Amino acid sequence: MGVRPRRFTGRRVPELFREDVGRYESLARELGATDVRQIGKGDVILDERVIARCYSPRCCYYGTNLNCPPHGPGIEEMRRIVDRYDTGLFIKMKVPPEEQADPDFDNPDKHKIPGARKMFEIVAKIQSAAYYDGYPFALGFGGGPSCKRVFCGKVECSGIAGKGCRFHLKSNMTMHGVGMDVFSMAARAGWEIYPIGKASCPQDIPHGLELGLVLVD
Ligand code: SF4
Repeated sequence: MGVRPRRFTGRRVPELFREDVGRYESLARELGATDVRQIGKGDVILDERVIARCYSPRCCYYGTNLNCPPHGPGIEEMRRIVDRYDTGLFIKMKVPPEEQADPDFDNPDKHKIPGARKMFEIVAKIQSAAYYDGYPFALGFGGGPSCKRVFCGKVECSGIAGKGCRFHLKSNMTMHGVGMDVFSMAARAGWEIYPIGKASCPQDIPHGLELGLVLVD
């Protein structure tokens, strides 16, 4: 059975909106989120240096898919977009450090990243629920590294080839790919976060984090 949409009126009813956002928060937790915060647009920290890190040192996903730079909105466009939303659900999921600190992190044949995929799915489900509830501009952002690594692996991006995204109902832009400073946002939320890379020793890190965001208005 399909989803039953709520009638769109173009008017926000504050009480209903609060109830809906609370329901999305619960949904995120049911789907596996460790914590969820309702944030305002002022809590979305955009910084040009985040995108600079996509091309120096060059990220292996740069330009390989529709959701990573140089595709997608630039940072000024993103600032204008974020400014149109009042509310966001900032989602955290703890993952084992081994998932993010592995020399073979970028090799889908040798290393699995289920947490990253799960966060994309949580974000997509909340975005979809909000859409059918009458918030058609609900906009989701997944965690890292990119939809290419998470969904398509070594297969070429069909979107770039003009054939549409294979996972259009699951894949989204990532927070960092549009210039969101997820480190500062997480720290501001009071979440423990560590810079983790291929050179990290998992035993030195309490946990890894997958982070996602859904803007609702
Ligand atoms: S086809 Fe794959 S790589 Fe391309 S945008 Fe979709 S999920 Fe990303």
